Formats: sequence, structure tokens, C-alpha cells
Amino acid sequence: MKKIIYLDNAATTRTAPEVVDAMLPYFTEFYGNASTVYELGANSKKAMNEARGTIADILGAQENEIYFTAGGSESDNWALKATAEAYRSKGNHIITSKIEHHAILHTCEYLEKNGFEVTYVDVDENGKIKLSELKKAIRPTTILISVMYANNEIGTIQPIKEIGEIAHENGILFHTDAVQAFGQIPINVDECHIDMLSASGHKLNGPKGIGFLYIRKGVKIRSFIHGGAQERKRRAGTENIPGIVGLGVAARRAADTMQERTAKESQLRDYLIDRVLREVPYTRLNGDRYDRLPNNVNFSFQFIEGESLLIMLDMEGICGSSGSACTSGSLDPSHVLLAIGLPHEIAHGSLRLTLGEETTKEDIDFVIETIKKIVERLRSMSPLYEDFVKKQARK
Ligand SMILES: *Cc1c(COP(=O)(O)O)cnc(C)c1O
Repeated sequence: MKKIIYLDNAATTRTAPEVVDAMLPYFTEFYGNASTVYELGANSKKAMNEARGTIADILGAQENEIYFTAGGSESDNWALKATAEAYRSKGNHIITSKIEHHAILHTCEYLEKNGFEVTYVDVDENGKIKLSELKKAIRPTTILISVMYANNEIGTIQPIKEIGEIAHENGILFHTDAVQAFGQIPINVDECHIDMLSASGHKLNGPKGIGFLYIRKGVKIRSFIHGGAQERKRRAGTENIPGIVGLGVAARRAADTMQERTAKESQLRDYLIDRVLREVPYTRLNGDRYDRLPNNVNFSFQFIEGESLLIMLDMEGICGSSGSACTSGSLDPSHVLLAIGLPHEIAHGSLRLTLGEETTKEDIDFVIETIKKIVERLRSMSPLYEDFVKKQARK
């Protein structure tokens, strides 16, 4: 296989070899069901609780506040649907933002069809939620505020502590989708008044299909998956012990290496941003320049189709992602890019590159040179660009 430069770490990450090594014995050697009484099962239970303790420790939470799920989407669905159900007698209003992941937005749409009212608060041009609008959206019937910790497309980090305080002062539960943030930035659930938090293994060099929901003690939500008594009767199903072990090791590893890794990544990120903005004309950076995930870059190139750019980058071995959803059969540009105010044609020319722990300066230099070449080539074929250049010449 040719060398690939993988810059789509917001979509998923490579499972770290030591994570795989830690998981393997739990398939073939320690395969016992954690709910059994014999030692083989107890081994599984012990490993599971160790992972639970690790995650709790990283978040400043208690062990019995961590519930394993099958990933970020399940955690988001659980938090929203179960809160809606449990607190329905108190109210039917939920507040979220316009730039959430579809696991939140589509769940909100589902709830709207079932008698709930949802306010989707605007963000500013950098993708930060407008706190004044958030405050204004609060009603006596508001039971939940759900705002993501950091955005998966443009990397903007939200003022989570302020949002938590607003929720707390108004006696409203606060959930955050921290799937992109967990493992990348330090998180403390108490400091930020977080009542529920979703995270997922495969975004932090852990395995796919495993995640967790943090549920603060006292939050009254019930089971989402009904069945056995696993996860203190709140999430049925035989525990995914290899996945849980992998998630625990990945979380520990991400926390231990966070400072050094993110310092390196943000330096490469800034280098990539600065050079592309300087060397490729008619380009803009999407997302907040400073309150931004250390590994996220998102550009819009005028006069270009993001999809064409992606295909040509792929031919050079570079994996990225575009802001439009053409691949999913729709021509609509990303809801996130529209929410920050980009016109359709600019949103269509977007490229997201998300760095990983293995990304090198050489990789980034190659990516910059390749982007320059491809953008120039695509523009040279664009009638819009030709018109634009002619008009500029006449001025
Ligand atoms: C990836 C992602 C999810 C979904 O997580 P899965 O584990 O893939 O289900 C949810 N929210 C955000 C912000 C994400 O980036």
C-alpha cells in the first residue's frame, strides 16, 4: 500500500498498538461474563472497573457516575431521550445549538415529533454559541441544555464553564457532547457544572463501538437499553469487556500524553494554517483561531468544490474531509458552515484536516505543497474563477 497521510482524525483514529495489546487477552483468555460469580468472570469485572476508575479520575468524577455505552451516538441519544422522558412532568423544552453533531440534532428532531420543543441557539462567525441568546431562550419549562464541548467540523471550543453556570443557576440539567474534546483538552465535570457528558473510544486512539456517558449522581434518568441489570441497571447488555479495557487504556494514554501531544499538534496546526492562508489566495479559515481543538484545521477555498479537492488529495495519499455532504447523497453544505454564516458556494469549497499523534512536519509540508498545486489546477478549470480574474483585471 502506498504511504498515506491520514488527516481525518476527527472522523476516527488509528487504534494505538498498546490499546490493542491490552484488549487481546480479554477476547481469548479472560473472556468471562462480568456478571458471573467464578473467577474468570471476576477478572472481567475487575478490568471493567479499573477502566471505569481511570475515566472517572480523568474527569474528576466518581466511578459510579460512568456508564459504558456503544459509543458517542448512543450516549447522546441516551442523555437526550432519557432526560426528556424522566423530566417531562417538569417541562418539555430543550435548548441546544445549531452546530451540534447529528447524533444530537436528529435526536432533537425526533423529540420534537414527540411533543418536545427545542430551541437551536445561534453561534457567531467563529462558531461560538451566543450566550445572551442562550439566556434568553430559557423558559420555566426548560429541562435540559445540551451544547457540545468542541465542534467536530471547525474545532471551535465552547465556553462550557459559562454555559454550565447558566444552566446551574437556572436549575436546568446540562449535557455536553465531548466526543471531540475528551482526550484533547482537560475536562473537569464539577468545575464546568456538567451533569452529563458523552465520549467515544475511537476518537482518542481507542476502539470503535465503545464509549461512555457520565451521569452525575442525582440525575434521575433511567435505562435506555432494557434487559439485564448491567451498569447498575441503567444500560443492559453483556459488557463489551475488550472494548472497555481498550477505552480505559486509550483514555489513560490520552490524558498522560495530552500536554506534549497537543503542544506538538497545535504547533503543526498553526504552521499549516499560516502557510495556506499566506500562500493560497482567496482562502479563509473556518472556526475560532484560538479557542480551537489542537488538531483541527478547516479551510474554505473560493471557486472550488470540496469534493473534487478531496478526490485529488486522495490520489496523492492524503485523507481529509469536506464540509459538504455530497458523499451522503445530499448536495447541502454542512449545517455548521452555514450556521457560521458562510454562503453556500463558499461552504462547498471546504476542507477539514484533523491531525493526529503521528502527523509530522514533513507530512504537513507535503500537504501544503499538494493543496497549492491542486487548488491552482481546479481553479484553472473553473469558469467562475476565470470570470473573477477577468473582472479583477478590468478594475
Ligand atoms: C464522532 C462523533 C459522535 C459520534 O460518536 P460515535 O462513537 O461515532 O457514535 C458524536 N459527536 C461528535 C461531536 C462526534 O465527533
